[in-house]
Amino acid sequence: MKAPGKMLPRIVGFILRRPVTVRYPKERLTPPEGLRGKMKFYPERCINCGLCARDCPSGACTMHDVEGGKKQPQFDLDFCTFCGQCAESCPKQAIEMTKEFELAHYNKGEAIVK
Ligand code: SF4
Ligand code: SF4
Repeated sequence: MKAPGKMLPRIVGFILRRPVTVRYPKERLTPPEGLRGKMKFYPERCINCGLCARDCPSGACTMHDVEGGKKQPQFDLDFCTFCGQCAESCPKQAIEMTKEFELAHYNKGEAIVK
């Protein structure tokens, strides 16, 4: 065990140091650059190619019928790993990974992005 004389300054230093955590949710930190949260889908840009669903590794992105006999993607956040592959694969930038990360919900299937 270290002598109290050596430990004391360190203990006092830790007590006086500014906390590295914040009082969430009252206080919030700015999400870091590159954070991949909930995706935003721009249906008007979509050309219905299905590449996003083809490349999704978890099956969270699937194609669904829309008006005009076409298909557009839906994203089930219960299965999503937030890898961003769907946005990478989209040739029309119709999918954007936002920094929205507070995605808690009560029931399975509630968190669908379309
Ligand atoms: S972020 Fe990844 S896991 Fe989620 S829908 Fe897109 S490709 Fe699939
Ligand atoms: S990859 Fe892009 S353009 Fe193709 S279906 Fe998905 S969202 Fe639409």
